[in-house]
Amino acid sequence: MKKRILTGDRPSGKLHLGHYVGSLANRVKLQEDYDQYILIADVQALTDNYDNTEKVTNSVKELVLGYVAAGIDPEKSTIVLQSQIPAIAELTVFYLNLVSLNRVLRNPTVKAEIEEKGFGDSIPAGFAMYPVSQAADITAFEANLIPVGDDQLPMIEQTREIVRKFNNLYGDTLIEPEAKISEFPRLIGLDGKAKMSKSLNNGIYLSDSVEEVNKKVMSMYTDPTRLKPTDPGHIEGNPVFVYHEAFNPDKSEVEDLKARYRKGKVGDVEVKQKLAIAINNMLEPMRQRRAELEKNPEKINLILKNGIEKGRAVSDEVLRKVKHAMGIDYKF
Ligand code: ATP
Ligand code: MG
Repeated sequence: MKKRILTGDRPSGKLHLGHYVGSLANRVKLQEDYDQYILIADVQALTDNYDNTEKVTNSVKELVLGYVAAGIDPEKSTIVLQSQIPAIAELTVFYLNLVSLNRVLRNPTVKAEIEEKGFGDSIPAGFAMYPVSQAADITAFEANLIPVGDDQLPMIEQTREIVRKFNNLYGDTLIEPEAKISEFPRLIGLDGKAKMSKSLNNGIYLSDSVEEVNKKVMSMYTDPTRLKPTDPGHIEGNPVFVYHEAFNPDKSEVEDLKARYRKGKVGDVEVKQKLAIAINNMLEPMRQRRAELEKNPEKINLILKNGIEKGRAVSDEVLRKVKHAMGIDYKF
């Protein structure tokens, strides 16, 4: 039997090239070898958007469109909408007894996010507890493997602790997942900032048109020390070349551009035009799959409905086993 893998995203807007190289491209490959579940974590997104629910709910279909556009095949990957899986909420409540408050607040990933979001003295309890609900996500679908970057390892460790504690207390019931460490590259922004990000508005979206891509690429930062095309240029950390490496499949073209750039024998315009062509070539099949699905909203609903149905069947069975192990499967 194929091992089950769980990945997911918080729905909060459009997908960009950073999301693609950081995780989507990997998932498109993983779905060939694994029984892949992709969780649209709308409940988790509400932990810091509870006062702006529409930001979350409006992004759910956008995520489905983005997945299918990127090459996720709903026949191979099961796309599950978290809020529609009641077992996750129930499991979360049981697991909350198996962790101490201090342990959750010490979780380095959560700690860093709490700082970053500036909650101060008003950390929503739901936010602080989200690693526990992640343990519920993972175990509800009996996932064996979780692809993560190393910054997410504390999350998986938290789940493993909960699973071990549960199994010790109530008997072997839950599957202990393992992290599948992937070197997710972090894509820099069009402006050369460390990260392409929606909130920094420095990205190319998977849904951008040819014209939008051309315009964004032409406005990209390059080498600030190079004033004329005849000045020798720097490749390292230059966003235009970082993107060429990431998105241009024509390696000899990239090597030629690099060599000429270093010698001051090529202008930014040519380098950028070739980059825009490469990115547009990559995005074109995605645009077509998106347009196809957009024409057919019933199909989006069906993808969600099927995923929910499958996700409920699996997770209800886990919940049944959990309640049985805990002795709360009362028969009246
Ligand atoms: P926001 O600006 O609202 O925080 P974002 O563009 O940073 O949005 P997120 O929704 O925070 O995107 O990202 C979710 C996940 O997508 C991250 O945990 C990471 O795995 C991946 N990701 C986001 N941006 C990048 C990037 N530039 N390069 C690689 N992976 C990324
Ligand atoms: Mg972010």
